[in-house]
Amino acid sequence: MIEPLIFDLSSGVEGYDVAEPSVTDDIALKELESSQLACEISPFLPQVSEVDVVRHFTRLSELNFHVDKGLYPLGSCTMKYNPKINERLAALPGFTEQHPLQDESTLQGTFEMLYSLQKILSDVTGFDSVTLAPCAGAHGELTSLMMVKAYFKDLGEKRDVVVVPDSAHGTNPASASMCGYTVKEVLSDSSGCVDVEAFKEAVDEKCACVMLTNPNTLGIFENNILEIAEHCKKTGTILYCDGANMNALVGRAGPGTMGFDVMHLNLHKTFSTPHGGGGPGSGPVACSAKLAPYLPSPLIIKDGDRFKAEYNRPKSIGFVHSFFGNVGIALRAYVYLRTMGFDGLKEVSGTAVLNANYLKKHLSKLLPIPFDKNCMHEFVMSGKPSEGCKVHTLDIAKRLLDLGFHAPTVYFPLIVEEAIMVEPTETESKAELDRFIDAFEQIIHERDNNPELLLDAPVTTPVRRLDETAAARKPDLKFCPCGDYVTRD
Ligand SMILES: *Cc1c(COP(=O)(O)O)cnc(C)c1O
Repeated sequence: MIEPLIFDLSSGVEGYDVAEPSVTDDIALKELESSQLACEISPFLPQVSEVDVVRHFTRLSELNFHVDKGLYPLGSCTMKYNPKINERLAALPGFTEQHPLQDESTLQGTFEMLYSLQKILSDVTGFDSVTLAPCAGAHGELTSLMMVKAYFKDLGEKRDVVVVPDSAHGTNPASASMCGYTVKEVLSDSSGCVDVEAFKEAVDEKCACVMLTNPNTLGIFENNILEIAEHCKKTGTILYCDGANMNALVGRAGPGTMGFDVMHLNLHKTFSTPHGGGGPGSGPVACSAKLAPYLPSPLIIKDGDRFKAEYNRPKSIGFVHSFFGNVGIALRAYVYLRTMGFDGLKEVSGTAVLNANYLKKHLSKLLPIPFDKNCMHEFVMSGKPSEGCKVHTLDIAKRLLDLGFHAPTVYFPLIVEEAIMVEPTETESKAELDRFIDAFEQIIHERDNNPELLLDAPVTTPVRRLDETAAARKPDLKFCPCGDYVTRD
């Protein structure tokens, strides 16, 4: 074992001295002692000193690769540097010591921040209304589809199909299916965009919603977007934008101006809040006026010079999260947006696209790129081995870990065989991108001259090749205090 559980480090020392209560004869204390509420046994906590705690968690943090350690080119995930000022301001006691059940008059600062963030995201997306309630991209998708459902119910129309292109993120069909829709897939054409003729055939008056990612997961801008939007309008179908790829557009173009009706954003991708490990995240939904009545409650509104949480919204789909969403994440994104400004955001998307094209140009000499046009914020190579070669995409990705980089997204999107999907983001310097290109050159040279190196990789990481299927399907995350761990007074 590389680092024991903190329970295994337990040595009986006390990390913290709690003063004796000064009101030992207090009636309440006596009542508590005689009531059912008092603990009969001490909680099973490890007995370690403060320095043991600090060293344990510092050692753990070093076992993993993270975005503060180096380039993390995880396509479609927008793993960018998280500015530390976001954390500084999110840690202000004025925010952290609040409780959502406090009287609204004492929550005005937080409400003003949430209200301003709704406004800024409205400007960024080109939509009238925004909710900050959903706590992930997939949660934003589900929220949007629930709104679509409520909208058609109100209209008295029965529509049970959601159309999704074959390049979509897996969460799109999953959300549609969770919401009770039948999913219909449309294929991409040879340029990597939606096949417009096949699309028109699939989208009719039975179709409730089309879920489109733009730029799509190949990093290509859907150049027929206006024609697609026009067809949706004609058939009364809602056009949904999976906005996880907004890093390519921020400060330049909003899906609200391209004919979309509703979208989600990932604050934990585009807007620099921490990302990974399962949360907390934030997936705001922005929509046009016709869907706004169905947005989840509450919305933060301005009433004269006061801010308030509006619950009285008769058509709302209701709560999708407790209170006001993940406020700490919203606050980090708010700080980011205020420090960048619109000019800064324009530079973000410009540099993100430039960095991706720079990498693409150099890496295309090493691996084929099946849909080879100028890309937006990411691009997809194929690691499919040539005849007689044993090295696959997985081996290339694992070898990158040995060379000090996080591996890119692999085997997604499914329309590219053995896909390797690279998204450098705007926060990487040219020097860092050049180091990544050098690493890739070394790996391709090794593949052709010493393939065993790749088949054995990674050799420098704390753990080697894991059973990823078992890790996802049978996660063993629960610690059961038993045997020697139990310490009773
Ligand atoms: C990340 C991503 C999602 C899902 O977002 P989560 O916050 O991980 O739930 C959806 N679509 C695309 C294209 C994505 O990249």
